Amino acid sequence: MEKQGKRRLRVVLVPLPFQGHINPMLQLGSILRSNGFSITVVHAQYSPPDPSSHPDFSFLSLPDTSSDFNVLTSDAFDFVLQLNAKCKARFRECLAADEATGADDGIACIIYDEFMFFSEETAKDLNLPSIILRTSSASNFLARTALIQLKTEGHIPFPESRSQDPVPKLYPLRFKDLPFSIFTNLENFLQMVSKTSNSKTSSAIIHNTINCLENSSLAKIQQQCQIPIFPIGPMHKIASASSSSLLEEDSSCLAWLHKQSCNSVIYVSLGTIAFMDVKEFVEMAWGLTNSQQSFLWVVRPGSVCGAEWIEVLPEGLKENIDERGYIVKWAPQKKVLAHNAVGGFLSHCGWNSTLESICEGVPMICKPCFGDQRVNARYVSHVWSVGLELESELERGEIERAVRRLIVDEEGKEMRKRGKNLKERIELCIKEGGSSNNSLNELIEMIMSF
Ligand code: UDP
Repeated sequence: MEKQGKRRLRVVLVPLPFQGHINPMLQLGSILRSNGFSITVVHAQYSPPDPSSHPDFSFLSLPDTSSDFNVLTSDAFDFVLQLNAKCKARFRECLAADEATGADDGIACIIYDEFMFFSEETAKDLNLPSIILRTSSASNFLARTALIQLKTEGHIPFPESRSQDPVPKLYPLRFKDLPFSIFTNLENFLQMVSKTSNSKTSSAIIHNTINCLENSSLAKIQQQCQIPIFPIGPMHKIASASSSSLLEEDSSCLAWLHKQSCNSVIYVSLGTIAFMDVKEFVEMAWGLTNSQQSFLWVVRPGSVCGAEWIEVLPEGLKENIDERGYIVKWAPQKKVLAHNAVGGFLSHCGWNSTLESICEGVPMICKPCFGDQRVNARYVSHVWSVGLELESELERGEIERAVRRLIVDEEGKEMRKRGKNLKERIELCIKEGGSSNNSLNELIEMIMSF
Protein backbone atom coordinates (compact mmCIF):
# COMPACT_ATOMS: atom_id res chain seq x y z
CA MET A 1 0.00 0.00 0.00
CA GLU A 2 1.80 3.08 -1.19
CA LYS A 3 -0.98 5.61 -1.31
CA GLN A 4 -0.37 8.39 -3.86
CA GLY A 5 3.12 7.62 -5.09
CA LYS A 6 5.73 6.95 -2.43
CA ARG A 7 3.90 8.47 0.53
CA ARG A 8 3.15 6.15 3.43
CA LEU A 9 0.34 6.61 5.84
CA ARG A 10 1.28 6.62 9.48
CA VAL A 11 -0.67 4.90 12.21
CA VAL A 12 -0.13 5.97 15.82
CA LEU A 13 -0.48 3.16 18.37
CA VAL A 14 -1.18 3.77 22.06
CA PRO A 15 -0.74 0.59 24.15
CA LEU A 16 -1.63 0.08 27.82
CA PRO A 17 1.75 -0.60 29.50
CA PHE A 18 1.19 -4.21 30.53
CA GLN A 19 2.73 -7.16 28.70
CA GLY A 20 -0.63 -8.74 27.86
CA HIS A 21 -1.70 -5.48 26.19
CA ILE A 22 1.65 -4.45 24.66
CA ASN A 23 2.03 -7.77 22.82
CA PRO A 24 -1.17 -7.58 20.74
CA MET A 25 -0.71 -3.85 20.08
CA LEU A 26 2.81 -4.37 18.70
CA GLN A 27 1.60 -7.41 16.75
CA LEU A 28 -1.04 -5.16 15.20
CA GLY A 29 1.74 -2.68 14.40
CA SER A 30 3.72 -5.41 12.59
CA ILE A 31 0.65 -6.45 10.62
CA LEU A 32 -0.07 -2.88 9.54
CA ARG A 33 3.60 -2.26 8.81
CA SER A 34 3.70 -5.24 6.47
CA ASN A 35 0.69 -3.75 4.73
CA GLY A 36 2.59 -0.58 3.99
CA PHE A 37 1.82 1.73 6.90
CA SER A 38 4.42 3.54 9.02
CA ILE A 39 4.06 2.87 12.71
CA THR A 40 4.62 5.22 15.63
CA VAL A 41 4.20 3.78 19.11
CA VAL A 42 3.40 6.42 21.71
CA HIS A 43 4.00 5.00 25.17
CA ALA A 44 4.16 5.84 28.85
CA GLN A 45 7.48 5.76 30.70
CA TYR A 46 6.08 3.09 32.98
CA SER A 47 7.00 -0.36 31.59
CA PRO A 48 8.12 0.89 28.16
CA PRO A 49 8.43 -1.39 25.12
CA ASP A 50 11.91 -2.13 23.76
CA PRO A 51 12.44 -0.19 20.51
CA SER A 52 15.30 -2.48 19.46
CA SER A 53 12.89 -5.38 18.91
CA HIS A 54 10.94 -3.28 16.39
CA PRO A 55 13.51 -1.31 14.40
CA ASP A 56 10.88 -0.48 11.75
CA PHE A 57 8.71 1.44 14.21
CA SER A 58 9.21 4.91 15.68
CA PHE A 59 8.77 5.16 19.43
CA LEU A 60 7.72 8.29 21.30
CA SER A 61 8.01 8.25 25.08
CA LEU A 62 5.56 10.57 26.85
CA PRO A 63 7.50 12.64 29.45
CA ASP A 64 6.43 12.56 33.12
CA THR A 65 4.40 9.38 32.76
CA SER A 66 6.33 7.05 35.03
CA SER A 67 4.50 5.31 37.87
CA ASP A 68 5.29 3.06 40.80
CA PHE A 69 2.38 0.68 40.18
CA ASN A 70 2.67 -2.44 42.31
CA VAL A 71 0.39 -5.30 41.41
CA LEU A 72 0.01 -6.40 45.03
CA THR A 73 -0.73 -3.05 46.62
CA SER A 74 -1.91 -0.57 43.99
CA ASP A 75 -5.46 0.07 42.85
CA ALA A 76 -5.63 -0.63 39.10
CA PHE A 77 -8.52 1.78 38.63
CA ASP A 78 -6.55 4.68 40.12
CA PHE A 79 -3.50 3.65 38.13
CA VAL A 80 -5.39 3.65 34.81
CA LEU A 81 -7.14 6.97 35.54
CA GLN A 82 -3.89 8.66 36.56
CA LEU A 83 -2.05 7.21 33.61
CA ASN A 84 -4.72 8.53 31.25
CA ALA A 85 -4.53 12.00 32.82
CA LYS A 86 -0.71 12.10 32.67
CA CYS A 87 -0.56 10.83 29.10
CA LYS A 88 -3.30 13.15 27.90
CA ALA A 89 -1.34 16.16 29.14
CA ARG A 90 1.67 15.16 27.00
CA PHE A 91 0.21 13.31 24.02
CA ARG A 92 -0.78 16.31 21.95
CA GLU A 93 2.51 18.20 22.28
CA CYS A 94 4.45 14.99 21.63
CA LEU A 95 2.60 14.36 18.38
CA ALA A 96 3.01 18.00 17.35
CA ALA A 97 6.77 17.89 18.05
CA ASP A 98 7.05 14.72 16.02
CA GLU A 99 5.13 16.26 13.11
CA ALA A 100 7.51 19.23 13.24
CA THR A 101 10.50 16.92 12.62
CA GLY A 102 9.24 16.82 9.05
CA ALA A 103 8.15 13.20 8.76
CA ASP A 104 6.82 12.94 5.23
CA ASP A 105 3.91 10.74 6.14
CA GLY A 106 0.70 12.10 7.58
CA ILE A 107 -1.11 10.48 10.49
CA ALA A 108 -3.96 8.36 9.15
CA CYS A 109 -5.40 7.46 12.54
CA ILE A 110 -4.73 6.69 16.19
CA ILE A 111 -5.31 3.13 17.39
CA TYR A 112 -5.53 2.93 21.17
CA ASP A 113 -5.95 0.24 23.78
CA GLU A 114 -9.48 0.44 25.16
CA PHE A 115 -8.04 1.35 28.58
CA MET A 116 -6.07 4.30 27.13
CA PHE A 117 -9.35 6.14 26.51
CA PHE A 118 -7.77 9.61 26.73
CA SER A 119 -6.59 9.01 23.14
CA GLU A 120 -10.12 9.28 21.78
CA GLU A 121 -10.50 12.84 23.05
CA THR A 122 -7.10 13.93 21.80
CA ALA A 123 -7.80 12.41 18.41
CA LYS A 124 -11.11 14.26 18.28
CA ASP A 125 -9.40 17.56 19.24
CA LEU A 126 -6.81 17.03 16.51
CA ASN A 127 -9.47 16.06 14.01
CA LEU A 128 -7.92 12.63 13.57
CA PRO A 129 -9.88 9.36 13.29
CA SER A 130 -9.42 6.85 16.09
CA ILE A 131 -9.89 3.10 16.40
CA ILE A 132 -10.14 1.03 19.59
CA LEU A 133 -8.15 -2.16 20.17
CA ARG A 134 -9.67 -4.65 22.60
CA THR A 135 -7.07 -7.15 23.70
CA SER A 136 -9.32 -9.50 25.68
CA SER A 137 -11.93 -11.90 24.33
CA ALA A 138 -15.25 -10.76 22.87
CA SER A 139 -17.08 -12.94 25.41
CA ASN A 140 -15.22 -11.18 28.21
CA PHE A 141 -16.26 -7.81 26.83
CA LEU A 142 -19.91 -8.89 26.88
CA ALA A 143 -19.62 -10.25 30.42
CA ARG A 144 -17.84 -7.11 31.57
CA THR A 145 -20.46 -4.75 30.16
CA ALA A 146 -23.26 -6.95 31.55
CA LEU A 147 -21.95 -6.20 35.05
CA ILE A 148 -23.58 -2.76 34.97
CA GLN A 149 -27.04 -4.23 34.32
CA LEU A 150 -26.47 -7.05 36.81
CA LYS A 151 -25.65 -4.47 39.46
CA THR A 152 -28.76 -2.41 38.63
CA GLU A 153 -30.89 -5.55 38.91
CA GLY A 154 -29.36 -6.38 42.30
CA HIS A 155 -27.58 -9.57 41.13
CA ILE A 156 -24.13 -8.35 42.19
CA PRO A 157 -22.40 -8.43 44.55
CA PHE A 158 -23.65 -12.01 45.00
CA PRO A 159 -23.57 -14.29 48.07
CA GLU A 160 -21.27 -17.34 48.06
CA SER A 161 -24.38 -19.54 47.81
CA ARG A 162 -25.03 -18.18 44.30
CA SER A 163 -21.50 -18.60 42.95
CA GLN A 164 -22.35 -21.74 40.95
CA ASP A 165 -25.65 -20.36 39.57
CA PRO A 166 -25.80 -19.52 35.87
CA VAL A 167 -25.76 -15.81 35.06
CA PRO A 168 -28.92 -14.78 33.19
CA LYS A 169 -28.25 -14.37 29.43
CA LEU A 170 -24.54 -15.15 29.76
CA TYR A 171 -24.34 -18.90 29.15
CA PRO A 172 -22.06 -20.72 30.06
CA LEU A 173 -20.90 -18.33 32.78
CA ARG A 174 -21.69 -18.82 36.45
CA PHE A 175 -21.58 -15.94 38.92
CA LYS A 176 -18.12 -17.04 40.04
CA ASP A 177 -16.89 -16.66 36.44
CA LEU A 178 -17.81 -12.97 36.15
CA PRO A 179 -14.80 -10.81 35.28
CA PHE A 180 -14.43 -8.67 38.39
CA SER A 181 -11.04 -7.24 39.05
CA ILE A 182 -9.44 -8.00 42.37
CA PHE A 183 -7.50 -4.76 42.15
CA THR A 184 -10.33 -2.39 42.76
CA ASN A 185 -13.70 -2.04 44.42
CA LEU A 186 -16.89 -2.78 42.49
CA GLU A 187 -18.04 0.83 42.10
CA ASN A 188 -14.69 1.91 40.68
CA PHE A 189 -14.58 -1.10 38.44
CA LEU A 190 -18.05 -0.36 37.05
CA GLN A 191 -16.97 3.20 36.28
CA MET A 192 -14.08 1.78 34.33
CA VAL A 193 -16.44 -0.61 32.53
CA SER A 194 -18.66 2.23 31.44
CA LYS A 195 -15.62 4.18 30.15
CA THR A 196 -14.38 1.25 28.09
CA SER A 197 -17.77 0.29 26.71
CA ASN A 198 -18.44 3.70 25.19
CA SER A 199 -16.76 4.07 21.83
CA LYS A 200 -17.69 7.79 21.60
CA THR A 201 -16.24 9.25 18.38
CA SER A 202 -14.05 6.29 17.47
CA SER A 203 -14.59 4.84 14.00
CA ALA A 204 -14.16 1.11 14.58
CA ILE A 205 -13.17 -1.58 17.06
CA ILE A 206 -10.49 -4.21 16.52
CA HIS A 207 -10.79 -7.48 18.45
CA ASN A 208 -7.91 -9.92 18.81
CA THR A 209 -10.21 -12.88 18.35
CA ILE A 210 -11.51 -15.17 15.66
CA ASN A 211 -14.98 -15.75 14.29
CA CYS A 212 -14.75 -19.51 14.59
CA LEU A 213 -14.11 -19.16 18.35
CA GLU A 214 -16.50 -16.37 19.27
CA ASN A 215 -19.04 -16.03 16.52
CA SER A 216 -22.09 -15.46 18.69
CA SER A 217 -20.37 -13.04 21.11
CA LEU A 218 -19.04 -11.03 18.18
CA ALA A 219 -22.49 -10.92 16.59
CA LYS A 220 -23.98 -9.62 19.86
CA ILE A 221 -21.31 -6.92 20.13
CA GLN A 222 -21.92 -5.86 16.54
CA GLN A 223 -25.67 -5.62 17.26
CA GLN A 224 -24.96 -3.37 20.24
CA CYS A 225 -22.64 -0.94 18.52
CA GLN A 226 -23.03 1.42 15.56
CA ILE A 227 -19.46 1.17 14.27
CA PRO A 228 -17.79 -1.76 12.49
CA ILE A 229 -15.95 -4.37 14.51
CA PHE A 230 -12.99 -6.18 13.02
CA PRO A 231 -12.10 -9.58 14.54
CA ILE A 232 -8.65 -10.00 12.99
CA GLY A 233 -7.04 -12.50 15.38
CA PRO A 234 -5.06 -14.40 16.29
CA MET A 235 -2.67 -11.52 15.70
CA HIS A 236 0.41 -13.38 16.97
CA LYS A 237 -0.06 -15.81 14.07
CA ILE A 238 -0.46 -13.06 11.46
CA ALA A 239 2.30 -10.73 12.65
CA SER A 240 5.96 -11.36 11.88
CA ALA A 241 7.61 -13.29 14.70
CA SER A 242 9.45 -10.51 16.56
CA SER A 243 9.21 -10.65 20.35
CA SER A 244 7.82 -7.78 22.44
CA SER A 245 8.76 -9.41 25.73
CA LEU A 246 9.56 -7.00 28.55
CA LEU A 247 11.54 -9.70 30.37
CA GLU A 248 14.53 -11.66 29.12
CA GLU A 249 13.46 -15.01 27.67
CA ASP A 250 15.40 -18.07 28.82
CA SER A 251 15.71 -20.14 25.64
CA SER A 252 17.61 -22.94 27.37
CA CYS A 253 14.24 -24.55 28.02
CA LEU A 254 13.89 -25.23 24.28
CA ALA A 255 17.02 -27.41 24.37
CA TRP A 256 15.51 -29.23 27.37
CA LEU A 257 12.23 -29.70 25.46
CA HIS A 258 14.14 -31.21 22.50
CA LYS A 259 15.11 -34.09 24.82
CA GLN A 260 11.51 -34.89 25.83
CA SER A 261 9.13 -37.12 23.94
CA CYS A 262 6.07 -35.96 22.01
CA ASN A 263 3.14 -34.62 24.11
CA SER A 264 4.86 -35.63 27.36
CA VAL A 265 5.47 -32.24 28.99
CA ILE A 266 3.11 -30.01 30.92
CA TYR A 267 4.04 -26.34 30.54
CA VAL A 268 3.14 -24.17 33.55
CA SER A 269 2.88 -20.40 33.56
CA LEU A 270 0.62 -17.85 35.23
CA GLY A 271 1.53 -14.93 32.96
CA THR A 272 2.78 -11.52 33.92
CA ILE A 273 0.49 -10.32 36.72
CA ALA A 274 -0.97 -13.30 38.58
CA PHE A 275 0.75 -14.36 41.78
CA MET A 276 0.47 -16.99 44.51
CA ASP A 277 1.46 -17.34 48.13
CA VAL A 278 4.22 -19.63 49.39
CA LYS A 279 1.74 -22.34 50.47
CA GLU A 280 0.13 -22.45 47.00
CA PHE A 281 3.57 -22.46 45.38
CA VAL A 282 4.73 -25.43 47.42
CA GLU A 283 1.41 -27.28 46.73
CA MET A 284 1.94 -26.65 43.02
CA ALA A 285 5.50 -28.00 43.23
CA TRP A 286 4.31 -31.17 45.02
CA GLY A 287 1.41 -31.66 42.62
CA LEU A 288 3.63 -31.38 39.55
CA THR A 289 6.30 -33.66 41.03
CA ASN A 290 3.82 -36.27 42.25
CA SER A 291 2.18 -36.46 38.82
CA GLN A 292 5.36 -38.22 37.64
CA GLN A 293 5.16 -36.26 34.38
CA SER A 294 7.80 -33.91 32.96
CA PHE A 295 7.11 -30.23 33.43
CA LEU A 296 8.47 -26.89 32.31
CA TRP A 297 7.57 -24.27 34.89
CA VAL A 298 7.84 -20.49 34.55
CA VAL A 299 8.28 -18.94 37.98
CA ARG A 300 8.42 -15.21 37.37
CA PRO A 301 10.59 -13.49 40.03
CA GLY A 302 8.20 -11.71 42.42
CA SER A 303 5.23 -13.92 41.50
CA VAL A 304 5.41 -15.79 44.83
CA CYS A 305 4.44 -13.35 47.59
CA GLY A 306 7.18 -13.08 50.17
CA ALA A 307 9.83 -14.87 48.06
CA GLU A 308 12.50 -13.66 45.68
CA TRP A 309 12.17 -16.67 43.44
CA ILE A 310 12.19 -20.43 44.22
CA GLU A 311 14.32 -20.36 47.38
CA VAL A 312 11.25 -21.17 49.52
CA LEU A 313 10.97 -24.72 48.11
CA PRO A 314 11.95 -27.34 50.72
CA GLU A 315 15.32 -29.04 49.99
CA GLY A 316 14.04 -32.59 49.34
CA LEU A 317 11.42 -31.27 46.98
CA LYS A 318 13.98 -29.32 44.95
CA GLU A 319 15.86 -32.54 44.24
CA ASN A 320 12.66 -34.29 43.14
CA ILE A 321 11.89 -31.41 40.83
CA ASP A 322 15.31 -31.64 39.20
CA GLU A 323 14.51 -35.20 38.08
CA ARG A 324 11.55 -34.33 35.88
CA GLY A 325 11.14 -30.60 35.93
CA TYR A 326 12.78 -27.53 34.44
CA ILE A 327 12.18 -24.13 36.00
CA VAL A 328 12.85 -20.81 34.26
CA LYS A 329 12.16 -17.19 35.14
CA TRP A 330 10.62 -16.40 31.77
CA ALA A 331 10.16 -18.52 28.65
CA PRO A 332 9.76 -17.86 24.93
CA GLN A 333 6.15 -18.98 25.40
CA LYS A 334 4.98 -19.08 21.80
CA LYS A 335 7.95 -21.29 20.84
CA VAL A 336 7.35 -23.49 23.88
CA LEU A 337 3.70 -24.04 23.02
CA ALA A 338 4.60 -24.81 19.41
CA HIS A 339 7.08 -27.52 20.52
CA ASN A 340 5.80 -31.04 19.93
CA ALA A 341 7.01 -32.20 23.37
CA VAL A 342 4.39 -29.99 25.05
CA GLY A 343 1.20 -31.94 25.66
CA GLY A 344 -0.62 -29.52 27.95
CA PHE A 345 -0.54 -26.04 29.45
CA LEU A 346 -1.38 -25.27 33.08
CA SER A 347 -2.33 -21.63 32.68
CA HIS A 348 -3.96 -18.68 34.41
CA CYS A 349 -5.87 -18.24 31.12
CA GLY A 350 -4.90 -14.70 30.21
CA TRP A 351 -6.34 -14.10 26.74
CA ASN A 352 -2.95 -14.09 24.96
CA SER A 353 -1.92 -17.35 26.63
CA THR A 354 -5.31 -18.89 25.84
CA LEU A 355 -5.08 -17.92 22.17
CA GLU A 356 -1.45 -19.03 21.94
CA SER A 357 -2.35 -22.43 23.38
CA ILE A 358 -5.46 -22.94 21.25
CA CYS A 359 -3.55 -21.95 18.10
CA GLU A 360 -1.04 -24.76 18.74
CA GLY A 361 -3.74 -27.29 19.63
CA VAL A 362 -2.39 -27.61 23.19
CA PRO A 363 -5.12 -28.47 25.76
CA MET A 364 -5.17 -26.59 29.04
CA ILE A 365 -5.51 -26.97 32.77
CA CYS A 366 -7.14 -23.67 33.70
CA LYS A 367 -6.28 -21.99 36.97
CA PRO A 368 -7.83 -18.54 36.52
CA CYS A 369 -6.95 -15.96 39.16
CA PHE A 370 -9.01 -12.85 38.42
CA GLY A 371 -10.73 -10.70 35.83
CA ASP A 372 -11.18 -12.02 32.30
CA GLN A 373 -9.20 -15.18 33.10
CA ARG A 374 -12.33 -16.75 34.62
CA VAL A 375 -14.38 -16.12 31.50
CA ASN A 376 -11.63 -17.55 29.30
CA ALA A 377 -11.30 -20.63 31.53
CA ARG A 378 -15.03 -21.29 31.30
CA TYR A 379 -14.97 -21.06 27.50
CA VAL A 380 -11.89 -23.30 27.28
CA SER A 381 -13.53 -25.99 29.41
CA HIS A 382 -17.22 -25.66 28.48
CA VAL A 383 -17.46 -24.20 24.98
CA TRP A 384 -14.34 -25.22 23.08
CA SER A 385 -13.86 -28.31 25.30
CA VAL A 386 -10.08 -28.18 25.10
CA GLY A 387 -9.31 -28.01 28.80
CA LEU A 388 -10.37 -28.61 32.35
CA GLU A 389 -10.62 -26.14 35.19
CA LEU A 390 -9.09 -26.39 38.65
CA GLU A 391 -12.04 -25.13 40.65
CA SER A 392 -10.83 -25.13 44.22
CA GLU A 393 -7.75 -23.81 45.98
CA LEU A 394 -4.38 -25.01 44.75
CA GLU A 395 -3.89 -28.42 46.34
CA ARG A 396 -1.25 -31.01 45.44
CA GLY A 397 -3.66 -33.93 44.93
CA GLU A 398 -5.91 -31.95 42.62
CA ILE A 399 -2.95 -30.71 40.55
CA GLU A 400 -1.47 -34.20 40.30
CA ARG A 401 -4.82 -35.65 39.08
CA ALA A 402 -5.37 -32.82 36.59
CA VAL A 403 -1.91 -33.26 35.06
CA ARG A 404 -2.42 -37.01 34.68
CA ARG A 405 -5.88 -36.51 33.18
CA LEU A 406 -4.41 -34.18 30.57
CA ILE A 407 -1.10 -35.87 29.76
CA VAL A 408 -1.78 -39.57 30.40
CA ASP A 409 -5.52 -40.28 30.25
CA GLU A 410 -7.82 -40.84 27.28
CA GLU A 411 -9.63 -37.64 28.25
CA GLY A 412 -6.49 -35.60 27.46
CA LYS A 413 -6.01 -37.39 24.14
CA GLU A 414 -9.58 -36.51 23.16
CA MET A 415 -8.92 -32.88 24.08
CA ARG A 416 -5.78 -32.88 21.96
CA LYS A 417 -7.84 -34.16 19.01
CA ARG A 418 -10.42 -31.40 19.47
CA GLY A 419 -7.56 -28.93 19.91
CA LYS A 420 -6.00 -30.03 16.62
CA ASN A 421 -9.32 -29.59 14.88
CA LEU A 422 -9.76 -26.09 16.33
CA LYS A 423 -6.20 -25.19 15.34
CA GLU A 424 -6.94 -26.18 11.74
CA ARG A 425 -10.13 -24.14 11.68
CA ILE A 426 -8.23 -21.10 12.97
CA GLU A 427 -5.58 -21.59 10.29
CA LEU A 428 -8.33 -21.38 7.67
CA CYS A 429 -9.62 -18.12 9.20
CA ILE A 430 -6.29 -16.37 8.67
CA LYS A 431 -5.76 -17.64 5.11
CA GLU A 432 -6.93 -15.63 2.11
CA GLY A 433 -10.72 -15.57 2.09
CA GLY A 434 -10.92 -16.58 5.77
CA SER A 435 -12.89 -14.44 8.24
CA SER A 436 -9.89 -12.82 9.96
CA ASN A 437 -8.21 -12.15 6.64
CA ASN A 438 -11.36 -10.51 5.26
CA SER A 439 -11.73 -8.38 8.40
CA LEU A 440 -8.11 -7.30 8.17
CA ASN A 441 -8.59 -6.25 4.53
CA GLU A 442 -11.67 -4.23 5.50
CA LEU A 443 -9.75 -2.59 8.34
CA ILE A 444 -6.91 -1.62 6.00
CA GLU A 445 -9.39 -0.21 3.49
CA MET A 446 -10.99 1.84 6.23
CA ILE A 447 -7.67 3.29 7.41
CA MET A 448 -6.71 4.16 3.85
CA SER A 449 -10.03 5.88 3.31
CA PHE A 450 -9.60 8.29 6.24
N1 UDP B 1 4.72 -14.87 28.24
C1 UDP B 1 6.00 -15.12 27.80
N2 UDP B 1 6.82 -15.88 28.58
C2 UDP B 1 6.43 -16.40 29.77
C3 UDP B 1 5.10 -16.16 30.21
C4 UDP B 1 4.28 -15.39 29.42
O1 UDP B 1 6.39 -14.68 26.71
O2 UDP B 1 7.24 -17.06 30.41
C5 UDP B 1 3.85 -14.05 27.38
C6 UDP B 1 2.75 -14.90 26.77
O3 UDP B 1 3.23 -15.49 25.56
C7 UDP B 1 1.65 -13.89 26.56
C8 UDP B 1 1.89 -12.85 27.64
O4 UDP B 1 3.19 -13.08 28.16
O5 UDP B 1 1.73 -13.31 25.28
C9 UDP B 1 0.91 -12.95 28.79
O6 UDP B 1 -0.31 -12.43 28.39
P1 UDP B 1 -1.66 -13.03 28.92
O7 UDP B 1 -2.77 -12.25 28.28
O8 UDP B 1 -1.71 -14.49 28.72
O9 UDP B 1 -1.65 -12.83 30.47
P2 UDP B 1 -1.35 -11.59 31.43
O10 UDP B 1 0.09 -11.64 31.70
O11 UDP B 1 -1.78 -10.35 30.73
O12 UDP B 1 -2.15 -11.90 32.65
